[in-house]
Amino acid sequence: METPLVVIAGRPNVGKSSLFNRLIGRRQALVADQPGLTRDRQEATCRIGGRMVRIADTAGLEEAPPESLSGRMRQGAATILEQADLILFVVDARAGILPPDAHFGTWLRRLGRPVLLVANKTEGRVGYANAVDAYSLGLGEPLLVSAEHGEGISSLMADIAAALPPPATKIRDEDVEEAEELTAAEDPGKPLKLVILGRPNAGKSTLVNRLLGEDRMLTGPEPGITRDAITLPLHDIEGRAYQLVDTAGLRRRARVQNEIEKMSTGASINAMRFAEVVVLVVDAVDGLHDQDLQIARLVEREGRAMVVALNKWDAVEDRDATRKAVSDRLERSLAQLKGIPVVTLSAVTGASVHKLLPAVRQVYATWNKRITTSALNRWFEDALGRHPPPNVSGRRLKLRYVTQATARPPTFVVFGTRAEGTPEDYRRYLVNELRNIFDLPGTPIRLDFRGTV
Ligand code: GDP
Ligand code: GDP
Repeated sequence: METPLVVIAGRPNVGKSSLFNRLIGRRQALVADQPGLTRDRQEATCRIGGRMVRIADTAGLEEAPPESLSGRMRQGAATILEQADLILFVVDARAGILPPDAHFGTWLRRLGRPVLLVANKTEGRVGYANAVDAYSLGLGEPLLVSAEHGEGISSLMADIAAALPPPATKIRDEDVEEAEELTAAEDPGKPLKLVILGRPNAGKSTLVNRLLGEDRMLTGPEPGITRDAITLPLHDIEGRAYQLVDTAGLRRRARVQNEIEKMSTGASINAMRFAEVVVLVVDAVDGLHDQDLQIARLVEREGRAMVVALNKWDAVEDRDATRKAVSDRLERSLAQLKGIPVVTLSAVTGASVHKLLPAVRQVYATWNKRITTSALNRWFEDALGRHPPPNVSGRRLKLRYVTQATARPPTFVVFGTRAEGTPEDYRRYLVNELRNIFDLPGTPIRLDFRGTV
């Protein structure tokens, strides 16, 4: 069976590259602020709804004024659009539906390939009204997402999975596992991207220096993969590679502007976009502050894995009480990110710093974990039996099956009659069960519900 091809199309600057990045789960495409920056077309293979899918981004092929669009299309994007098993037609819900969108929409309808209409930039419910306008394109219901903030993406993935032509044969778990091995084998020794965050004075710089060794700092940071953040290469004692996403520059600017609180949040979001695992450095003498929890919530929202480094352990007097206070508060305040590993260490003396990277590895593995559909459904049946779904508006909620749509972070989709009406407390029950049964501590878990008829 051929791998199905999904092509992302739309006028310049609607967020095609950003969406491409979101779907493949990597920051590969260059996201531009100005329209018309030419980029090479990108293509990647990733897993959506339990199967391998090729995704192509047509950004860079579409920089033609609308009147010459079809002409240009024939040469570039048209070829790939004709081959598409599914086209994601992206519009910008902030800018609204513009003439080029309408023109392109008409062209796409004539092309006759399956299309999903995606209204991007809807974070914070902005542009919902324009998204409704998108109905006028005659391409069905607009799916609301924010590529930049990662909102609506797992739901979009479920829609993609549903819209693709069915595979020739039913996928078996063996196939899925094989696909996983293939994905893992593609990139041996790919560095794990790590970012160190925390309040001012928690000891971030000291810890970074400690991890890198003194000599590294003398040579200074090397320019890294992106223009928004720099990365520092790092190896653990087993020779495994890491890239430390450095936010020092952003932090310094925050100090100068004396807007520490505001900037550190902004800087955290920025740095997190390039990281896979976040190390939250907490000053153990000072204890856990609201600002620490605020950063942790951002980590959850951005879907990253997290480890807490409880620093300045050398200066703590009552260690048992301190450890307990921090762990309790984390568990209570971060229901969405339970079981975060807490590593007590001292960046200044170096004590227990060697325990940090193994903990990072562990949550990274959890974050990447894939669970087979059969194992999931054995659990699901049991979980529904032990605690049956409630009635919603007097009607029985029938949940039928669950599958893992993506990893990084683990994202599951539950299908069933009126499943989208599943109440919040039942959703939470299932997430907690998933976390406990499949051992998923320290990572956000996404669970989507999709109604079937
Ligand atoms: P493309 O030309 O269609 O590939 O668009 P890009 O992915 O390069 O994005 C164009 C601009 O829109 C960039 O400045 C992005 O940061 C921004 N952008 C992309 N997605 C979103 C989103 O979900 N919300 C907001 N507010 N901006 C976005
Ligand atoms: P940053 O603002 O988070 O980068 O924090 P720094 O690395 O600049 O550290 C802030 C202060 O905490 C400095 O005076 C450090 O010497 C001190 N500090 C950092 N780590 C430790 C530690 O493990 N133990 C103790 N006692 N002090 C530390």
